[in-house]
Amino acid sequence: MKVQELSAEQTADPGYDLCIVGGGIIGVLTAYQAAITYPNIRIALVERGEFGLGASQYAAALSSTLASTVLVGELSSESDRFYLNLARENPTLPIRQLPIIYVGDSSDPILHTTRTITEVKPDDPRFSLPLSQLTNAHRLLYGGDVLHIEPLGLIKSLVGKLRTFANVNCFKYTSVESVQIMPEDKLWLNTNRVFGIKAEQVLLALGPWSLFHQMTRSSVEVSCRNKKIVTMRLDVSPPGNCPVIFFPKEDAFLLPTDEQFLFSIRSDEWDIQPDQKLLISDADRRNGRRILERYAPNLLDYYDDRDVFCDCYSSNSEPVIIPHNRLSKVFIATGGNGRGVRLAPAIARMALTKLIPTSNYTQNSY
Ligand SMILES: Cc1cc2nc3c(=O)[nH]c(=O)nc-3n(C[C@H](O)[C@H](O)[C@H](O)COP(=O)(O)OP(=O)(O)OC[C@H]3O[C@@H](n4cnc5c(N)ncnc54)[C@H](O)[C@@H]3O)c2cc1C
Repeated sequence: MKVQELSAEQTADPGYDLCIVGGGIIGVLTAYQAAITYPNIRIALVERGEFGLGASQYAAALSSTLASTVLVGELSSESDRFYLNLARENPTLPIRQLPIIYVGDSSDPILHTTRTITEVKPDDPRFSLPLSQLTNAHRLLYGGDVLHIEPLGLIKSLVGKLRTFANVNCFKYTSVESVQIMPEDKLWLNTNRVFGIKAEQVLLALGPWSLFHQMTRSSVEVSCRNKKIVTMRLDVSPPGNCPVIFFPKEDAFLLPTDEQFLFSIRSDEWDIQPDQKLLISDADRRNGRRILERYAPNLLDYYDDRDVFCDCYSSNSEPVIIPHNRLSKVFIATGGNGRGVRLAPAIARMALTKLIPTSNYTQNSY
């Protein structure tokens, strides 16, 4: 780690109680919750580019009810409640609810969901399913409503709101290069700008960059790897009453938007560098085609590329909120596991619980 001589001026700067590095969905929601919950702490939110233009911008971003572990199910329910409250307070935020149908064959193991699911028939009048290949062997399960969040719009709104708080500063185009310990146990963040940032506590929420930055790599590489994620597009208008259609066995879903379907498919390429040029491969395209051939050959004509990026995945598929392995008072929050938007409110709450000794600060509920 780079150690710099600090000037007397830098040492005297009162700085921030909490500095959050990384302006993706996890960093922004942590800053937002901290600002609402602890109105008397000074907060800095630092992003190396524009807010929300990391992994978060690519998220489809569906909050399905399927949960890989009990904890993920609990975090998902908590996050849903948070997003719904946010949408109630501000109905213009890009958060909407859509019904979801899980589709598989009758041999599928029972789906682990956080809510009750009920079996439905393909001709159920509540739903228009654009799947021409459904047979009696398929099992259709209605899972209630799920949330669809447009992450970039949400992040921009929340950062706009954060900028109105007197105790919060948001820095964009500011890359944090290293963290060092100052006298009196305070932390100093060296940046690519002419200024540094002084803080009592730091959260590093670098998303898939966590595995490549010298500040975080050695803390997370023991339990995380980056995996590619692919979303294709079907350039055809979804029918009215079209639900989200989730294929659990294939780990894929069709999400209807106003003018097209987003088709999220699984890709098993690992150890991806977020700064390298990522491509949708022929294997990815074939994988998507196979799913459509199985359930909806009628949609094959509209099949096209859309987004490819990566996310940080943990070995147990749960989010990673851990202390830094060398610096006390520095925590790391990552491990979106391809569902970081869905879980971000709960990840933010967990990170804050670790970071802020509540007895020292006035606390509001949000
Ligand atoms: C194609 C695709 C589809 C997806 N679909 C879904 C979905 O349907 N539902 C869902 O919940 N999730 C989905 N995801 C996953 C979701 O996008 C991620 O889990 C989530 O965005 C991770 O958020 P984050 O804040 O950890 O990371 P990021 O959004 O990557 O944020 C990290 C930020 O840190 C910044 N940064 C990095 N280094 C520094 C530094 N040194 N100094 C300052 N800033 C720095 C980066 O610029 C970046 O903005 C999808 C992802 C992809 C790629």
